[in-house]
Amino acid sequence: MNNTYNNPDSNPESQPSEALAKVADNLRKVQANIPQGVQLVAISKFHPNEYIQAAYDAGQRVFGESHEQELAKKVTSLPKDIKWHFIGHLQTNKVKYIAPYISMIEAVDSLKLLKEINKQAAKNDRVINVLLELHIAEEETKYGLTLDACRELLKAGEWREMKNVQICGLMMMASNVDDEAQIRKEMTTAADFFDEVKATYFPDAPQFCERSWGMSHDYKIAVQCRSTMVRVGTAIFGPRVY
Ligand SMILES: *Cc1c(COP(=O)(O)O)cnc(C)c1O
Repeated sequence: MNNTYNNPDSNPESQPSEALAKVADNLRKVQANIPQGVQLVAISKFHPNEYIQAAYDAGQRVFGESHEQELAKKVTSLPKDIKWHFIGHLQTNKVKYIAPYISMIEAVDSLKLLKEINKQAAKNDRVINVLLELHIAEEETKYGLTLDACRELLKAGEWREMKNVQICGLMMMASNVDDEAQIRKEMTTAADFFDEVKATYFPDAPQFCERSWGMSHDYKIAVQCRSTMVRVGTAIFGPRVY
């Protein structure tokens, strides 16, 4: 796997303009590895507005953040035509803050959260696009619905009455391992499950079409495993400074 990212901050001599040029350069390199039809979500969490602006100036329009307060600050000072995806674990009491503007909430992992998104979207007179997050990776710390829990949620059918959310597909994170075969296995499980859900619940719903998997270390595998949406941070912006 390719871990040779260009860290915009790695050279202490580097001028800000060089760091920003590196972001644009990294973005082009990632874009070149992604086939047509796969959307790149640039994951900008913990990175400064200048880096986001540099990626924007290089043509990127879709960005992902995982913390509501950080996102709120960025939204007010960056271009208005950016589409923001919320990719982190979202607490129900935070939904109201992002409901007015969020373009997609990627990590819906409970019926309770789905209901709250529907409620807050209705208050804002809009329909919010969401993905259901699957838990397939072997790591215990990861959020998400097991395949059975996801089947249950869909079978129960309450979501059909929610007029202000649109379920657009599935999202998952593979295990954070070097074993390419394991990553491939998990992503293939997700892709097969997508087909099951599509056939059972969304056969006539063209909006149910997204398979969001692939991060900096595994997006090249993800696009071979039918990903339609990769979420890449480090390979574009360099390591995050927490
Ligand atoms: C941080 C994050 C990413 C991006 O990770 P990188 O390794 O920096 O590409 C993708 N998806 C989710 C859910 C994340 O939290």
